[in-house]
Amino acid sequence: MERPHVIIVGAGAAGLVAASEIAQKCNVTILETREFIGGRIRTTQGAGNDTLIEAGAEFVHGDTPVTSRLLKEAGLKTVKLNGKMLRKEGKEWTEEKDMIEGWDELVEKMKGQRNDMTMQDFLQKNFPGDKYASLRRHVGAFVQGFDVAGVDEVSVQSLYREWSNEGDQMRITTGYTSLINYLYEKCEKAGCLLLTGKTVKQVDWQKNEVTIYTSDGEKFSANKSIITVPVSVLRDISGKAAINLTPPADDHIKAACNIGFGTVVKVILDLKQNLWENGTGFIFSTETIPTWWTQYPLKNNLITGWVGGPAAARLSQHTDDELLEIGVISLSNIFDVTPSFLRNIMASSYVFNWSKNEESLGAYSFSTPESAAARKILNEPLAGTVFFAGEALYDGPFSGTVEAALSNGNATAAKVLKSLH
Ligand SMILES: Cc1cc2nc3c(=O)[nH]c(=O)nc-3n(C[C@H](O)[C@H](O)[C@H](O)COP(=O)(O)OP(=O)(O)OC[C@H]3O[C@@H](n4cnc5c(N)ncnc54)[C@H](O)[C@@H]3O)c2cc1C
Repeated sequence: MERPHVIIVGAGAAGLVAASEIAQKCNVTILETREFIGGRIRTTQGAGNDTLIEAGAEFVHGDTPVTSRLLKEAGLKTVKLNGKMLRKEGKEWTEEKDMIEGWDELVEKMKGQRNDMTMQDFLQKNFPGDKYASLRRHVGAFVQGFDVAGVDEVSVQSLYREWSNEGDQMRITTGYTSLINYLYEKCEKAGCLLLTGKTVKQVDWQKNEVTIYTSDGEKFSANKSIITVPVSVLRDISGKAAINLTPPADDHIKAACNIGFGTVVKVILDLKQNLWENGTGFIFSTETIPTWWTQYPLKNNLITGWVGGPAAARLSQHTDDELLEIGVISLSNIFDVTPSFLRNIMASSYVFNWSKNEESLGAYSFSTPESAAARKILNEPLAGTVFFAGEALYDGPFSGTVEAALSNGNATAAKVLKSLH
């Protein structure tokens, strides 16, 4: 009997992991709009000193079951982040033991929260007044920076799941792309066909029959399909990135709109000399680009600036040159040096403004109080034929991460295989 044909749209973590599983039993074609694989995972070689530049994902967060298993299987090494976390406010440097003072009390209260609500409503209810002003400010900055969300939109229950599951933070020593390369090797061995530079524009579907059209006029047919594009692309129905589903899948598109999606601006500077004391890991500040991290325990002079959520969305209107200048001013203020001094010791620089990225229209998802219901809808296929997958469809403690993409990719592959029996 002829093997069924499955088309996977998108060669990010979710698409590749699903392809590698499904290809054991089916013919698999992967259609990817970019000329390279990995999606929001993209490691490149820095200009000097053997540095690696991560445009997107950089850290393995906590005890991630699927990522850890794959890293082990691939024989990839990780390094634990054990640098100091410092805060610079005004002229004062302090070392932080917790990310936020009062963290434990906050997480305990979040645990008891039965009805979901936004973090802002939760803070107003449980931590009101001047006494907690600093806690509220720090939570707002943390949610914005880490979860790329505004406190007035993010779900308190999803944050509890995430925050109560903290573990070691790690970096893959050969860069995140080595995990993608490993997944792709698995796909190749299983006989998948990868076509890059193929932008999917239209998906016509009926039971067990899919016809997919790409922007270069090609047409592909299959029995099933998995669409792994970011939810930001899925809901861009009248925009440039739009994928037209025929017949329309209004409930699914509406559900995609109920999942939050935030953005990030990353400014990476490779300096000729370093400005920080040995052992510095993260630096938090009140500058326009507020969060910075070194590569510690690796020893080099690379420092990464990060701004996420609504603050990043506002900054994203700037050109890359302007963002670099904002980064230089933020970092020179933190280290009390002049911007011209910093410019003089800068060997190279990299700017990643994710809301301008046409293939993802932002960085990653976060949960609003409506997102749990939305995910249930998106995880249901259209007529058992068109499936959706990706980090935003994952429900669990590793929201918005590579783990979320891998875990949901695996789960979706299992559903596709089951639907073929
Ligand atoms: C700046 C940044 C920092 C991050 N940091 C971390 C981190 O430290 N740790 C962590 O775990 N996670 C991090 N993440 C999140 C992580 O990168 C993502 O959750 C994960 O990579 C998403 O994988 P995915 O397969 O769901 O989606 P994607 O990687 O976006 O894959 C979807 C694919 O679909 C393709 N596509 C889009 N439109 C079309 C179309 N029309 N036709 C064909 N193909 C199309 C895209 O090009 C892409 O390759 C970060 C993300 C960003 C942006």
